[in-house]
Amino acid sequence: MNNSNNNNHTTETLRVDLEMLQRYDQPGPRYTSYPTAPHFTTQFTAEDFELELENSNSEPAADLSLYFHLPFCDTLCYFCGCTMIITRNRHRIDEYIDYLIKEIKLFRQKIKPGRKVAQLHWGGGTPTYLDPDQIRRLFGAIREHFDFYPDAEIAVEIDPRGLTEEHLDALQEVGFNRASMGVQDFDPRVQEAVNRMQSELLTRWAFDGLRARNFESINL
Ligand code: SF4
Repeated sequence: MNNSNNNNHTTETLRVDLEMLQRYDQPGPRYTSYPTAPHFTTQFTAEDFELELENSNSEPAADLSLYFHLPFCDTLCYFCGCTMIITRNRHRIDEYIDYLIKEIKLFRQKIKPGRKVAQLHWGGGTPTYLDPDQIRRLFGAIREHFDFYPDAEIAVEIDPRGLTEEHLDALQEVGFNRASMGVQDFDPRVQEAVNRMQSELLTRWAFDGLRARNFESINL
């Protein structure tokens, strides 16, 4: 592949490892859940899950990595393969947060005191479809029940559409320090075809807002 710069007439060549390309040129498991979808089975019961949690407390007990799935979105992107719910009903989100907080409390009882959070991730759906107060409410409950390492990786998936300065302030305030943003293509024709209109200007605004709030890692 060539990347030409018309201003100074230089040409850079990007070398591609053919062996690596061939190795990954095949269908893989869906990445939208962990464990990946083929590993989910009804044979694994709630009791099995509790047993696994108890076993995880055995010495040396590992640090905690917590994942929260916030499945709500405003509109459907046609390429989407995530577990998500399109809704304009903010009450459903509040209700979901209530259940998450109940689950946090149940989960916490099974985890040995002293185990700290090294990593936390909010994925979706669209975590930033929560309004700033909902972000604070959910994260407040998490902090109430879990201790974090000072250098914990605290990551959130961001959709620049619908994002406001108030969202960015709330994310910074609760302690997020990493973000990932979905960008499929900047070509408006492609964006229209996949039902995800998101201008480069908007993406850049979100990126700059995160940088200004000291996010250590931002990936697109
Ligand atoms: S914002 Fe993300 S989760 Fe929601 S519909 Fe689009 S791709 Fe799917």
